[in-house]
Amino acid sequence: MANADRVKQLFLDLLRINSPSRHERGVADYLKSKLEALGFHVEEDDTAEQIDGDAGNLIAMLPGTIPGARSIFLGAHMDTVEPTDKLDINFDGKTFHSDGSTILGADDKAGIAAIIEGVESIIESGTEHGDIQIIFNVSEEVGLLGSRKLDTSKIKASMGYIFDTQKPAAGITVSAPTHENIIVEITGKAAHAGMAPENGISAIVAASKAIARMNLGRIDFETTANIGVIQGGKARNIVPDQVTIKAEARSRNNDKLTAQVDHMRSVFQQEADAMGAKLMFQGEREYTTFRWTENDDIVKLAVAACGRIGVKPTFQDGGGGSDANTYNSLGIPCVVVGVGYDGAHSHSESIALEDLVTASRFASAIIETAAHVEG
Ligand SMILES: [Zn+2]
Repeated sequence: MANADRVKQLFLDLLRINSPSRHERGVADYLKSKLEALGFHVEEDDTAEQIDGDAGNLIAMLPGTIPGARSIFLGAHMDTVEPTDKLDINFDGKTFHSDGSTILGADDKAGIAAIIEGVESIIESGTEHGDIQIIFNVSEEVGLLGSRKLDTSKIKASMGYIFDTQKPAAGITVSAPTHENIIVEITGKAAHAGMAPENGISAIVAASKAIARMNLGRIDFETTANIGVIQGGKARNIVPDQVTIKAEARSRNNDKLTAQVDHMRSVFQQEADAMGAKLMFQGEREYTTFRWTENDDIVKLAVAACGRIGVKPTFQDGGGGSDANTYNSLGIPCVVVGVGYDGAHSHSESIALEDLVTASRFASAIIETAAHVEG
């Protein structure tokens, strides 16, 4: 049974170790000794060098007590978004939050705490279990770098549960979109804005015309698009010859994503052509979609785990990416599990201790459920 005081203490310990992306050393060291004390064999890979960080992914294994039981892995990420410097943690007896000047870091330290508490309570009670693997990644928040660099032959488990999303605790996120990062450069022609504007081609005007008639925002229930950054121009009195635009599009349907990206490209192209400007348009898939249904083993096991702890199963469609996208694209089935936090990536980020305990119980329940399934 999950121990509320213990998981609270563990969560506070983790929050107090600052770990922005590429600087997870302190958290990795803390977790290594924690997992070893619980009997895990812990390995740190060489991702640190590959991404210019100070820590690698942790891959930990606890051999099962039931031969032949299904092996599963539980995952979370050790980095947080910023700002976290001078984090002042407030706990009112029910809910954790920051003082409002930083994020809290429940994303994803609450996920880590829930996994460890879930495992620790299994070990403490002497409950039989199959092989348990734990994977704590680095630099998830800056493009899933840790999971993308992970040598997946190290994953011995047949499926995984990534503790890395918001309320409800123990909610099951069965899908996530494909995400395309787009960079656009429009090159026009510079000219003096007062003396010879007719000799110039304004890259800003071309970009503006294109963006003004582009389909953006929520395109449909599973597709979104955004122009996030626009930079260009040198001075007030020069017709601007250069604009750089950073945009993105996401969809849980790859055909719709391709159509949306094509639309964005062709509108930019038409407006650039109309003014005699040049276009460079580059799209890159950051991660790819997945979708599981109630008929898939990965979901069935999670539903059974909910039943074990008396939580009504809830299914969500994810709007963002996580390490689960990486693993699914490599053929290792994964879903994302709700840890119970709220307002991630904002200064009002919070989590209730009650939800953290539910997520811990869910981690235990996944292990217990898997123990009674073969393979
Ligand atoms: Zn996260």
